[in-house]
Amino acid sequence: MHLILFGAPGVGKGTQAKLLSSNFGIPQISTGDMLREAVRTESELGKKAKSVMEKGELVPDDLMLGIIKERIQREDCKKGFILDGFPRTIPQAKHLSELMTKLELPAFVCIEITVPDSEIIRRLSSRKICHSCGADYHSATNPAPADNKCTICGGNIITRRDDNVETIQKRLDIYREQTEPVKKYYENLNHFYSISGNNEVKQVYEEILKKLSLN
Ligand code: AMP
Repeated sequence: MHLILFGAPGVGKGTQAKLLSSNFGIPQISTGDMLREAVRTESELGKKAKSVMEKGELVPDDLMLGIIKERIQREDCKKGFILDGFPRTIPQAKHLSELMTKLELPAFVCIEITVPDSEIIRRLSSRKICHSCGADYHSATNPAPADNKCTICGGNIITRRDDNVETIQKRLDIYREQTEPVKKYYENLNHFYSISGNNEVKQVYEEILKKLSLN
């Protein structure tokens, strides 16, 4: 299965990608997680991406395409993969299609998850993540333990630098301007579905499984 989870920041792409990844035994490819790892290890890529990410802007397409090209050709992607946070611009989508054709891989199923902006802002401003494995914590639904150590890997739980109200708003604006047009691209290619993410995690997950069963 080759799946794109599409939608604004905070709609639950990462949460759903993790569930799908363990169910189907294919990797979640989160470009945001990959970039945060690069920032953490202070790699060349991390140095270039850090300030852009902190401002809530998009990392340049050429860098993103290089990362994806290398990642999807690794051994663990042989049975398929789930893209979470990529593509985010029309050039990214076009180059991805070209790459898929070149590698003789099948067309993507693209599932859009939608959530009202007010709920996105509420979710992201109360979100914390594990610095090591990227697991999500929310004060209401899945609070971080008192010692701020991840229950999955023991890593430190932190607040993302871009999860403050001002930067969240900026990320939403950029989503509308640069990423939402990508939707048309996949609508035209078929295998595009849109579901509400404004429900319990389990319910959203079941909706996704229903759409996947149509393919
Ligand atoms: P995310 O974890 O998906 O919210 O991504 C966090 C940040 O990483 C974004 O706000 C961007 O700065 C950067 N980023 C992640 N994926 C991409 C992408 N496909 N294109 C450009 N920038 C990206």
